[in-house]
Amino acid sequence: MEYITLNNGISMPMLGLGVWNAHGDEAYNEVRMGVDEGYRLIDTAAYYENEAEVGRAVRDCGVPRGELFITSKVWPSEMVHGRTLASFERSLDLLGLDYLDLFLLHWPIGDVAESWRTLEGLYREGRVCAVGVSNFMPAHIDELLKTAEVVPALNQIESYPHHAQEGAAGYSQRHGIAVEAWGPLGKGKALGDPVIAGLAGKYEKTPAQIVLRWHLQRNVITIPKSVRRERLRENFDIFGFELSESDMAAIAALDRGAGERYYPTEFDPDRFGVIPDSGMAAR
Ligand code: NAD
Repeated sequence: MEYITLNNGISMPMLGLGVWNAHGDEAYNEVRMGVDEGYRLIDTAAYYENEAEVGRAVRDCGVPRGELFITSKVWPSEMVHGRTLASFERSLDLLGLDYLDLFLLHWPIGDVAESWRTLEGLYREGRVCAVGVSNFMPAHIDELLKTAEVVPALNQIESYPHHAQEGAAGYSQRHGIAVEAWGPLGKGKALGDPVIAGLAGKYEKTPAQIVLRWHLQRNVITIPKSVRRERLRENFDIFGFELSESDMAAIAALDRGAGERYYPTEFDPDRFGVIPDSGMAAR
């Protein structure tokens, strides 16, 4: 495993396990298999509705809590006065943990400044080791930094070769904010690209390993998701080889620039659901 040191001195694994869209036993089994295969970073969110299963797997896995790095996130419908703290308490309760390693604002929507103050409070109280943001573009970072007392440790953004978001990634990194890629494999779609396939042949690796290695060498943390043990194992096996500079550049050249992703500025319950059983209705 390789580690990155966040801007507050905390050490974080560069590769972890995404658990979006895994529910019930599937989520539990994914985390148990992932930890078995060596993963120590686990990325969940209130919105994924699997914190209870993730937490149970974390408690059952036999690895000491201090060796694991658990992330969760507050959803925009809960980034409202008074609700951010309740959302954190609920996440912690569902996970059955007494602290989180990293807690993120899931999107730059809602009362960002006030929610961030809540995260700063949790950080100062030692209930989270680090606080960060997700889906923040440069303008969102600028806005947050106008009132923030704690600079986010990390920005989790969508990033894969065809939609690398170098602008947002570079901007974050220049502000001391580590970058973590969600959808690092382009949800699997990046893997059929002929350039990636060619490099897989050249390095005798799989397309997923080439893409994950590219992220690692550009200093971007990744959290690929799979519920299949053989893929978990494959995705973890990226530390024993190195892509050349020209091959890194060949992957970077696949970037098509701005993607079709919708980056809203306001909470829209039709596009952004509320968390059904949180008892917290959208504004
Ligand atoms: P991903 O890029 O990790 O792709 C996952 C899909 O790729 C899997 O469902 C599987 O079909 C396929 N796959 C995985 N390993 C493979 C392999 N070795 N070979 C072939 N196919 C493989 O996409 P993702 O799950 O959307 O993103 C990863 C994680 O990022 C999520 O699970 C979640 O934790 C996080 N996430 C965060 C946000 C956010 O807004 N912050 C949004 C989406 C996802």
